[in-house]
Amino acid sequence: MFLENNVLNSQQKGRLEIICGSMFSGKTEELIKRMRQARLEKCKIVIFKPCIDNRYHNNKIVSHDQNKEAAISIANANDILKYVQEIDVVGIDECQFFDEAILDVIQKMIQKNIRVIVAGLDMDYQSNPFGCMPHLMAISDDVTKVHAVCMNCGDVANFSYRKTKSQDQILVGEKEEYEALCRFCFKNKMHAK
Ligand code: ADP
Ligand code: MG
Repeated sequence: MFLENNVLNSQQKGRLEIICGSMFSGKTEELIKRMRQARLEKCKIVIFKPCIDNRYHNNKIVSHDQNKEAAISIANANDILKYVQEIDVVGIDECQFFDEAILDVIQKMIQKNIRVIVAGLDMDYQSNPFGCMPHLMAISDDVTKVHAVCMNCGDVANFSYRKTKSQDQILVGEKEEYEALCRFCFKNKMHAK
């Protein structure tokens, strides 16, 4: 039975991998690394990002270390399906910003035997699960949680602290708006706010 499953798996490439963590934790770096590796393996790849996140570039994903890869900006999750004919590996950055249709879109791609690699924030600025991410983590084949460095004490950080007063769940920002904090420093700063 175990052997049969293995044989089955080797023929089925459709799978879902999640890269999650706070801001500055290296999600985009890890996504770029996996996509470049897939390209070296001669897979046909494409990367998507929600058009809400145009912090650096309209047609690229860019990490905080200035690593870049071409990406297609998407307004509605359903539009992704137009671009994945003949594609082996799909990368999605900042997935937490996509509308709910992304869940069905990802399931359809897995059924088409596509390896889907999703990067996204697991928690919002109030430490609540963010958008589609908890659902995707639950149904995924593999979850990698990456970590940042706490800007307050240097410990391992997994919270995105918003420095400004805005209370919108979505506020696309950078070091002026956010800092990575560990659980202890995050709790203290939220209480002091
Ligand atoms: P993410 O996509 O998770 O926001 P990136 O992959 O864009 O992260 O960037 C990760 C890089 O950000 C690190 O390699 C590091 O050079 C830089 N960086 C800036 N602030 C921090 C921090 N507080 N902790 C860790 N890395 C940081
Ligand atoms: Mg990123």
